[in-house]
Amino acid sequence: MEFLEFMGQAAPYIVAVIGAGTALAVVATSRSTLRRTLEAFHDREERLRSVLATVPDAIITVDDRGVVTAFSPVAERLFGYGPGEVIGNNIEMLMPQPYKEEHGGYVDRYNTTGERRIIGIGREVQGMKKDGTVFPMELAVDEIKLGDKKFFNGFARDITDRKHAEKEAREQSRRLAELRNELFHVSRLSELSQMGSVLAHELNQPLTAITNYVQASRRIMERESIEVPDRVNESLDKASAQAVRAGEIIRRLRNFADKDEGGISPEDVGAVVREAAELGQIGQGSTGVKVDIQVEPNAPSVLIDRIQIQQVLVNLLRNALEALAKQKKARVQIAVTTQDDGDVGVAVIDNGPGLPENVAANLFKPFLTTKSDGMGIGLSISRSIVLDHGGDLECEPSDGGGTTFRFSLPAAKKDGAKNDI
Ligand code: ADP
Repeated sequence: MEFLEFMGQAAPYIVAVIGAGTALAVVATSRSTLRRTLEAFHDREERLRSVLATVPDAIITVDDRGVVTAFSPVAERLFGYGPGEVIGNNIEMLMPQPYKEEHGGYVDRYNTTGERRIIGIGREVQGMKKDGTVFPMELAVDEIKLGDKKFFNGFARDITDRKHAEKEAREQSRRLAELRNELFHVSRLSELSQMGSVLAHELNQPLTAITNYVQASRRIMERESIEVPDRVNESLDKASAQAVRAGEIIRRLRNFADKDEGGISPEDVGAVVREAAELGQIGQGSTGVKVDIQVEPNAPSVLIDRIQIQQVLVNLLRNALEALAKQKKARVQIAVTTQDDGDVGVAVIDNGPGLPENVAANLFKPFLTTKSDGMGIGLSISRSIVLDHGGDLECEPSDGGGTTFRFSLPAAKKDGAKNDI
């Protein structure tokens, strides 16, 4: 702030105070009144300066041609310019292309049409620092009129961190969607594999019986010397050939579905569990069920097929959440601990109603379900996956009610040796 004093010998004294782009005329009748007015003005100016210095936004004032008339200390820090380097220059120096080029047009359009695109609205734009770095910022612009002159105050905030967090969140949900697809795919394959096994098992006997009956019929006809037309003999041959073929198809289906994808690798058990818990809760809405994950801090890495083990966890968690649907103070705990033998124990504990009696009596049998839309193969698939990993899936009542499923996973390295993944 600069003071230019024009004082005559007699009152009134006229003082012109010239600030950044503004001028103020003070008329006083005595020297003491003038001093007080000047001091009050100075105090106000200082207070404003301190407010401006503490506002977290960068504050930039421009005139109606876009020339910068004030540039706050925060603005200097944000854009990397020193004091006085920006004032007097066009605001375009703080903009990257193509905004720099287009800005003049925006100013002209506003001055002639009064159409507001940013003034009083605010939006996300890009700023450019002195070193050329381009960054995203949120900009709110206010119009002020001083006399017949128009000025614009811009309040700018660097939103690089927020944008980064938003990008991370988008990336995370894309990854989750991918993982979910992968899981559903594996789940389909596992269902197919399970169905293949069950079908092969269930159909093997009737198919063998058909073959046997066909052969027996032929033997009876031979023994009884029954004259059989050639066409009947041909049909019998075809019937047993078709039965053998049906058996082959089922065996091939089973082999195909059982094919090992070889996805075993050392994995961070905490990350696997947390990711699966997130997946298991997708699409469950706000059930109000608290899912509590406790991973022992030094739990070793495990040697597993991540997708398959996550499928087990998703199955167990979903079963628990479904069992808890009508429960008050519903809670699921997933606990990961190191067992005495060095392997890792995983427990999914709920405080729900417990297993229905007929399920408990036939646990892990396929196609056993109490749900209208259930397939009844989740638990049996889960068990076969855990068995493939050298462990077993066990079920017991939770302390104080509910159901606990436990299984163990092989540690990648035992005897406290640190795993390097
Ligand atoms: P599905 O979920 O398709 O019914 P599952 O094999 O996953 O097939 O489960 C079989 C049945 O076991 C379920 O229908 C349910 O009745 C019972 N069940 C599984 N987990 C729980 C649990 N945590 N609490 C109570 N019942 C359960």
